Amino acid sequence: MTANQVKRAFKYRFYPTDAQAAELSRTFGCVRKVYNLALAARTEAWTRQERVNYNATSAMLTAWKKTDELAYLNDVSSVPLQQCLRHLQAAFAGFYGKRARYPRFKSKKRSRKSAEYTTSGFRFRDGRLTLAKMTDPLDIVWSRPLPEGAIPSTVTVSQDAAGRWFASMLCDDKPAMPAPANATVGIDAGLTTLLTLSTGEKIANSRHERRDRVRLARAQRNLAKKQKGSANRAKARRRAAKVYARIADRRRDHLHKLTTRLVRENQTLVIEDLSVRNMVKNHKLARAISDAAWSEFRSMLEYKAQWYGREVIAVDRFFPSSKLCSACGTLQSKMPLNIRTWTCDCGTVHDRDVNAAKNILAVGLTATACGDGVRPQRSTPGGQSSVKQETPRRKP
Ligand SMILES: [Zn+2]
Repeated sequence: MTANQVKRAFKYRFYPTDAQAAELSRTFGCVRKVYNLALAARTEAWTRQERVNYNATSAMLTAWKKTDELAYLNDVSSVPLQQCLRHLQAAFAGFYGKRARYPRFKSKKRSRKSAEYTTSGFRFRDGRLTLAKMTDPLDIVWSRPLPEGAIPSTVTVSQDAAGRWFASMLCDDKPAMPAPANATVGIDAGLTTLLTLSTGEKIANSRHERRDRVRLARAQRNLAKKQKGSANRAKARRRAAKVYARIADRRRDHLHKLTTRLVRENQTLVIEDLSVRNMVKNHKLARAISDAAWSEFRSMLEYKAQWYGREVIAVDRFFPSSKLCSACGTLQSKMPLNIRTWTCDCGTVHDRDVNAAKNILAVGLTATACGDGVRPQRSTPGGQSSVKQETPRRKP
């Protein structure tokens, strides 16, 4: 795959008919069942030091379908069932390659409900998408158009915890490659300010963020008070999931606009590798949300940089970005979190975050020049392509 031949996922909300919703729920259930059966079989073989591959699990699926108790697997499209065996294969490949933990069973309550269809499992004609085992096309809200002439190669249907339905279509796409930009930028992540740029610009959280967080905290307190297993608890859980979904949607929208702009304007973007950094001691919920925002931001930045031929450099997290004067290079002995502006002995007055962003940029650019001190931009987990469909969801 060349840099400008990429697959892009386009995700849309849709509204299924009752029959379609029932068919999809049945499919999700069968996918979960097949995945868990295959995982159990592979785990059992693993204890005997044997490896079961995809082909073997595919043969097992054929046999399961012939038994009385699993005959219901024949009622749904076989494509998503095959696909989940491929996903399991990929999960094991990640495990053997030491990139991932041992695969876990899918739970009815906790796992993402989804089914993946390859070309034999759907029909895409005149901009209408019809899935296998269905007569009518899905009622999709085309919130943005598919690229001219794009034909999906894979469709993933999912339902989130708030009960909303989505279809994500993977298409080949050749993005227009803009001219190289001259600018470079350092980006510092914060808690109250979402991002601070080395140019001095501060980017706030989306304007609904504060109010949404208050609502989420209230919904979660309410959930905690409900008795385990009660109907009220299930209701409270759905309500909290809805609030969280809205926060995530607004944030994603905000981050999409932001990352597109940053990648268009800059040739090199330097960020801090915050993967395990204990960012700011603060209210737990606020932190979970900013951490999730940051990892989402980073993954969008990285895949868009690949589309546009830009470079993202992640600077080591132990780099003392806040304590270093970006003008003279003097290192301050301490820099408590409550200090937002400070004056260096050289006379420069610093905004704490802007100074940090400037330092991040400087160390990123130096390190690329001498190949030292930073971790290189990592490839996506699994490492095969530039496709990003979803970012890992973190529960609030
Ligand atoms: Zn100084």
